[in-house]
Amino acid sequence: MKVLLVEDEEGLIITLTDRLQSEGFEVKSAADGELGVSFALAEAFDLIILDVMLPKKNGLDVCRDLRQKEISTPILMLTAKGETIDKVLGLKLGADDYLTKPFEVIELLARIEALLRRSPNTMNNSPESFRFGDVSVDFRRAVVKKENELIELSALEFKLLQYLIEHRGEVLKRDELLDEVWGYDAMPSTRTVDVHVAWLRQKLEENPRYPQFIHTVHGLGYKFVG
Ligand code: CA
Repeated sequence: MKVLLVEDEEGLIITLTDRLQSEGFEVKSAADGELGVSFALAEAFDLIILDVMLPKKNGLDVCRDLRQKEISTPILMLTAKGETIDKVLGLKLGADDYLTKPFEVIELLARIEALLRRSPNTMNNSPESFRFGDVSVDFRRAVVKKENELIELSALEFKLLQYLIEHRGEVLKRDELLDEVWGYDAMPSTRTVDVHVAWLRQKLEENPRYPQFIHTVHGLGYKFVG
């Protein structure tokens, strides 16, 4: 497991690196935000620990940049006491959890464990391909076929389908889909989600009016069953 630690306090870098290494993690650290972004883009990590107050680029901007660049690695933010706004904003910008400084290392390890458990990367529910009914999806090549015929999906439809499949069995609220598929800075209405779901059903379901795979959960959202 590889962890990227973006932190500028030397004492904390040393303490955390030592402790994480002794827990079996491989640790790479970046002492400012710009370096953090470039490391995160250059190689894959299982987790990013990200301080908010950083030189060159603050943690919130780092988080936003990484999510915009489609880096979905779990991010644990470190905020200073009383930075409530940062916490809220951090989560909105795509951080997965936060911890307030000062913290006990044991608490940090517990959060890391929880995040890695939750992470789709480690749960291995991001398959390279997936089949349902007579539809096959090749995620790496972004190719969808139905009865071996190529189905044309827009980038958004594909992303939506992928998200539904990765979270199959879960009830997904329209707001969540908007955040995860369209992105936090897009401002479409939840109606947009309904429209795209309808298009996906049209293209993929045997009978779009009685969908077998992309179910509506009334009053809540959607659920992929496959
Ligand atoms: Ca700092």
